[in-house]
Amino acid sequence: MNVIFLGAPGAGKGTMAEVVTAKLGIPSISTGNILREAKAKGTPAGLAAKEYMDKGELVPDDVVIGVLKDRIAQDDCQKGFILDGFPRTVAQAEALDKMGVKIDKVIEIDIADEKIISRLVDRRVCTKCGASYHLKNKPTNVEGVCNLCGGKVEARVDDQPDVVLSRLKTYHEKTAPLKGYYEKKGILVTVNGENGIEATAKPILETLQG
Ligand code: AMP
Repeated sequence: MNVIFLGAPGAGKGTMAEVVTAKLGIPSISTGNILREAKAKGTPAGLAAKEYMDKGELVPDDVVIGVLKDRIAQDDCQKGFILDGFPRTVAQAEALDKMGVKIDKVIEIDIADEKIISRLVDRRVCTKCGASYHLKNKPTNVEGVCNLCGGKVEARVDDQPDVVLSRLKTYHEKTAPLKGYYEKKGILVTVNGENGIEATAKPILETLQG
């Protein structure tokens, strides 16, 4: 089962990917997490990505496609995977098709733009494993410490309101057209992402398990 989560920044893609990974046992792949780690380590891909990420712009397709290709070639992806944050352009979706990757379902998590900034201002992310938290809706057990790996949990630099606005604009211009791309293939399912973690997870799990 290969699944794509599509949605604006802050829609809940990462959180839903965590839920589905726990239920179905397939890994979730966040190109954002991979790039943040590469950036922190100063690898060539990380250095190429930094200036775009800090401004809330998309990293060039060739860099991200390379990163994704390496990741899905790993053993744990052979029985399927969830893509969180990839593809983000039609060229990236076409690259997946060219690689011969068959996508079974694309889950679009729908949320109004007005809800996004307040959500992201309170978002916190583990710098080690990428797990996502929210100060009110999903706090860590111990402040600043990841429940899963004990890593340091903090706000992302690109979750500041001005950068979020730029990411949102990019989403509407470059990524939202993917809805039509996958709708034409008959594999797009849209769920409402505004009603809390459990209410969002329910129709997603029903779609993937049914
Ligand atoms: P995310 O954690 O998914 O919000 O991604 C954080 C940032 O990483 C984005 O704002 C982009 O700069 C970059 N990024 C992640 N995935 C992609 C992608 N598929 N294509 C281009 N840039 C990406």
